Amino acid sequence: MDGIIEASGKTVYPIIFPVNYSSLGSINCYIYQNRNEYTLIDAGIKGEEFEQFFYQKLSDYRIEMKQIKRIILTHFHEDHTGLVNKLTKEYSIPIYASQIAITRLKCEGEYLQQKLTFYQELYKQYGVTDFAVERLTKMENTLRNKEKVMLQSAILQLEEGQQIGGLHVIAVPGHSPDSIGLLDKENGWLFAGDFLLASGMTNALIDHDEAGIIINPLMQYIESIEKVRHSSIQYVFAGHEAVFQNLDDVIEKSLSKTEYKLQKLVKKISEGHQTAQAIGEAIYGPRFAKHFIFIISEVIGLTLLAQERGIIERHWQEEQWIFQLKND
Ligand SMILES: [Zn+2]
Repeated sequence: MDGIIEASGKTVYPIIFPVNYSSLGSINCYIYQNRNEYTLIDAGIKGEEFEQFFYQKLSDYRIEMKQIKRIILTHFHEDHTGLVNKLTKEYSIPIYASQIAITRLKCEGEYLQQKLTFYQELYKQYGVTDFAVERLTKMENTLRNKEKVMLQSAILQLEEGQQIGGLHVIAVPGHSPDSIGLLDKENGWLFAGDFLLASGMTNALIDHDEAGIIINPLMQYIESIEKVRHSSIQYVFAGHEAVFQNLDDVIEKSLSKTEYKLQKLVKKISEGHQTAQAIGEAIYGPRFAKHFIFIISEVIGLTLLAQERGIIERHWQEEQWIFQLKND
């Protein structure tokens, strides 16, 4: 059947749900069959439309939900966990994720409060609170309605290097700090979550660690890439866009896109755009306000990378960070 990939007693059944509201093109999850054992990797997005699509695919593939032995989540984002609460209510099926993902999915400790405080501070420090009102209000609502968003069932912890259902767990932070990849070493199949996408789009999002401290996502991303670069990976099953085979080409594309964006940012700073807003607007124009969350995340990530490389420096002035070329 269309899209199924088989080798050495194992099969991948892709569930590629097309979406037109995002440049990501599709929301993907996969059923991985290792002999008689079925694992669902990621669980799509909330809503009836996806749910119907999911069950239709299962029926096309002649797989019954009760055959699925476990669900593994590549990371905590809601377009990967959508069906989990519904499925665990109906079937007794264990859920697995990394420790960082568990804290977030179960809203453990003060996670949601810490997240809200982190973004309030971040946007303030970068002088963009005016653009962030909608997002911050949404976070405040989530904090109040935590029961509605958190995953209901227990989640079992996966460690780097662990084997599960024929898959080898690798930590690949960058897109998010909790991201894991799942590798079928025998076939060279990598379930990548959103770590790598076919288009080479680098979507390393600003986030914080357990102590609430900002993480440099591009540095993490570049380090994670080295774990899979020049390897014998034959197929990459990503969380969005198409399944792809040319991993090293995709990596080159992604890294050169990042370098290009970094150069552009440095150029804008050298032209006198000193604040995050001014830099973002100089690069993206009116799209800055429209796609604020992603663009500010990218701008901050790139400034951190440029600082790390000693190209630019920042100063605290009038209650926010301002940027200039180093030794300017
Ligand atoms: Zn994601």
